[in-house]
Amino acid sequence: MKIGVLGGGQLGRMLALAGISMGLEFRFLEERPEAVRGLGECCTDLEQFARGLDAVTYEFENIPLESVRWLEQRLPVWPSSRALEVSCDRLVEKDFLRSLGIPTAPYGPDIAYPALAKKRRLGYDGKGQRRIARPEELKQDELAEEIIAFDRELSLLAARSQAGEIRTYPLTETVHRDGILVRASAPAEGPMPDYARLILEKLDYVGVLALEMFEHQGRLLANELAPRVHNSGHWTIEGAHTSQFESHLRAGLGWPLGDTKARDQVVMYNLIGQLPGPERFEGAHYHAYGKAPRPGRKVGHVTLLGGGILPELEVACARSAP
Ligand code: AMP
Repeated sequence: MKIGVLGGGQLGRMLALAGISMGLEFRFLEERPEAVRGLGECCTDLEQFARGLDAVTYEFENIPLESVRWLEQRLPVWPSSRALEVSCDRLVEKDFLRSLGIPTAPYGPDIAYPALAKKRRLGYDGKGQRRIARPEELKQDELAEEIIAFDRELSLLAARSQAGEIRTYPLTETVHRDGILVRASAPAEGPMPDYARLILEKLDYVGVLALEMFEHQGRLLANELAPRVHNSGHWTIEGAHTSQFESHLRAGLGWPLGDTKARDQVVMYNLIGQLPGPERFEGAHYHAYGKAPRPGRKVGHVTLLGGGILPELEVACARSAP
């Protein structure tokens, strides 16, 4: 069975690494094939990409909606273009979350300033985000959102199969610096909200979905929805009985989902901007993405099971002095 993946970044690469051992083959729609070299075919033309595939999924949400709709008319595609439509525009996404009764940070016209101006589309890893002092500074393609002095950031990862089976991973605590995820640890303490189920069922969703949240004054506010496997779930590769990548494939291929419980206390650190070698992290699981190091670029990650930490990588998690 040959699966097409829109995008060939590290998420596509790890999806293929999981799928190859499940007997699947892959083809990527990607301009820069470095990251998926050796994992499958790579093409740049949509029609050529679609030819002979059994099903299609995607690894990032900044893809033209029309391409996904075009593919949907020819092949099974998961998650659906509806999920992509909701999540590729921050305003549509927040309105959707609110319509389900899921709280978010206040946004729109009646909020406190200074606030955050976020690009409605195409923002990721804190890109397209800036602080503004007054509403007049807001540009047309931006959304204004209140700055939340959150206690923690958490991520919720869940999968839904074609048959409607839902499995939720343990809550993951995340730390971001300069808008980029630096550490994810699980299982995190705290009650599990039912937000994932509400979203999955409303969208008749198939695949893995991630919801990033702020914990603020005892409430969980939804921040961002990703209709795909997610960086906050990389710990599941070694740390859960079934990884997020396997879950995503199982869901899309109509197979029963696996066990999403954690095997142990797990911590995952992103390697950002530079790639220290695996010999530096004894006892940890090392992943390099085959990307050239560049400031602010995620080039790999390291996962440690058993409740310990990696002091060398904790440094990047410390808050910089005000
Ligand atoms: P985002 O691009 O929305 O995923 O935001 C990236 C990171 O910026 C988040 O993980 C937070 O650390 C921070 N951030 C985003 N929105 C807010 C907010 N309303 N208040 C405070 N911090 C935020």
